[in-house]
Amino acid sequence: MKQNSQFQQKQDLQYIDHPDTPALFWCKSNDCDENRIFCLSCQKQNKHNQHYNEDVLCIHELNQFLIDQSKQHENLISECQLQQKQTIKSLDKLIYGLSYKFCGIEDKINQFKNYQTQQALDSFIKT
Ligand SMILES: [Zn+2]
Ligand SMILES: [Zn+2]
Repeated sequence: MKQNSQFQQKQDLQYIDHPDTPALFWCKSNDCDENRIFCLSCQKQNKHNQHYNEDVLCIHELNQFLIDQSKQHENLISECQLQQKQTIKSLDKLIYGLSYKFCGIEDKINQFKNYQTQQALDSFIKT
């Protein structure tokens, strides 16, 4: 357990340039190559100053941002699920239609009238 938390701490430190100063800001710029979570020293070194002002935010807003982002992805998931349902529905319809058209056709073929044979031939060749 203790080892685990030490490891966790080590990992945490890798994310910031100055482990001894508190992280105050984070950067959401698309093309940021710096550590996204940073401190006042980083700010003074202008590490993120090529980024727009609105891309640099207060650390207290970070969790809310992450929550909002995950919600957006939840919406995407339910949209996909809806589409999945609709796709299944239309495939069901297609299968039903095809079954209606072709199932049991073997038994009927021998009793087909000429025009029915013609129709069946057409539909097999064209589909
Ligand atoms: Zn720093
Ligand atoms: Zn940045």
